[in-house]
Amino acid sequence: MDSKSSPVEMFFFPYVGGGHQIPMVDMARIFASHGAKSTIIATPKHALSFQKSISRDQELGLSISIETLHLPDDTDIADTDMSASPRTDTSMLEEPLKALLAEHRPDCIVHDVFHRWSADAINGLGIPRLVFNGNGCFSRCVAENMGKYKPHETVSSDYEPFVVPGLPDRVELTKSQVPVMMRPPNQNGFGPRKMGKPEENSFGVVVNSFYELEPAYVEYLKKEMGNKAWLVGPVSLCNRNVEDKAERGKKATIDEQQVLSFLDSKESSSVLYISFGSLARLAPEQLLEIAYGLEASNHPFIWAVGKIFRSAGKEKENEEAWLPYGFEERIRESKRGLIIRGWAPQLLILEHPAIGGFLTHCGWNSTLEGVCAGLPMITWPIAAEQFSNEKLIADVLKIGVKVGSLHWVSWSTEPWAAVGRDKVEASVKRLMGGGEEAVEMRRRARELREKAKRAVEESGSSYMDADSLIQELNSLRNP
Ligand code: UDP
Repeated sequence: MDSKSSPVEMFFFPYVGGGHQIPMVDMARIFASHGAKSTIIATPKHALSFQKSISRDQELGLSISIETLHLPDDTDIADTDMSASPRTDTSMLEEPLKALLAEHRPDCIVHDVFHRWSADAINGLGIPRLVFNGNGCFSRCVAENMGKYKPHETVSSDYEPFVVPGLPDRVELTKSQVPVMMRPPNQNGFGPRKMGKPEENSFGVVVNSFYELEPAYVEYLKKEMGNKAWLVGPVSLCNRNVEDKAERGKKATIDEQQVLSFLDSKESSSVLYISFGSLARLAPEQLLEIAYGLEASNHPFIWAVGKIFRSAGKEKENEEAWLPYGFEERIRESKRGLIIRGWAPQLLILEHPAIGGFLTHCGWNSTLEGVCAGLPMITWPIAAEQFSNEKLIADVLKIGVKVGSLHWVSWSTEPWAAVGRDKVEASVKRLMGGGEEAVEMRRRARELREKAKRAVEESGSSYMDADSLIQELNSLRNP
């Protein structure tokens, strides 16, 4: 292969939904914009959710395409509607993936850790393998030091705070906020789960973050990975036109004009946007508390409700039982709120000047998207590494207030009303009420927005990292 004439060929194997698929598709588009030849591997059904944005990139002249994995008898992965949980079994893709890689032999493959079998499957093919785990560097360092020092094993109750040792910042957690698989075995039978180590034998990791956001933690990761860590985020910033923003992940279930005219009618920085990401299913009881809290706060809002958890046997209960009586009529008449059932055009909403705050479950993508929009946040973590992200937002970056979420809840556990209406009301008033603390948080958040934008511009830190990975892959061709 001639390293001078043909672009580096990068294959991307995203997960089949949610907060892992979206950033990897963006990442493939970013590398194409840096001159690589990007190919996204997907099943036919899965590809539908991002096909249009790829076609738009192709029209702009970028070298990017989708390669579909054909499964016997036209079968497909069951959950490819953005709600695939980390437990969705995708192993039926193993043989088609291996065949595809053996045929094309790209310069590298970037694969998602939720395809749990993929590291082993790719090892041995002689193709440099890069790992994407969807998280930032801060939460990774917290997890590492939790594993190393086990501070949660020294406390006597689930709610006694402990400090995570060995970090540049003071990070306090309680055992109730630690992922169940990291806790010692308990009476429920949950115990530490052995996690695979996809980074072993890999060529390195690609991360959706940027140096200026979490410098000490980036240094730690780069050192740990022997400099084989490339930060190319925030990847959401590659979505520059309205269509890309409105259809990211999947097409919004609300007409974007309806959202925009609601926002256009509001004062600058006056509206709170509320979303719990692509996976979380809140219980009707919890949604009711949110509704009461929002109404009592008296601030305008857009609430992306997403999927609702239905207990076994209650699946057919009144769809609207989670709203207080007359709530929707009241907010419609007062023009104070907008409820989005289903998928919201999150990027479009966040960047509108009328948005002044983001109540988030602290998924890593949402966290970064809030940063890119220069928004202070109300943090309401639920699962995964979201409690660590909350500490980064509220305690380290000081751009958020905590709602007071105390319980890490596994995807498979029935959720309940963990946070009451009073806490919702108080945190909304604190963030949106115009007090000095909130003004200061907004100022810091806007500074970070500028840093995020600079990172992806020519000669910015993430721009340079993307270029340097391409160069390194190129140099493998002619060692
Ligand atoms: N998202 C969206 N509309 C929705 C819900 C989510 O566009 O109604 C996007 C959001 O912008 C983010 C991703 O889905 O890019 C969610 O990822 P995150 O890491 O925040 O949370 P997860 O869904 O993985 O819990």
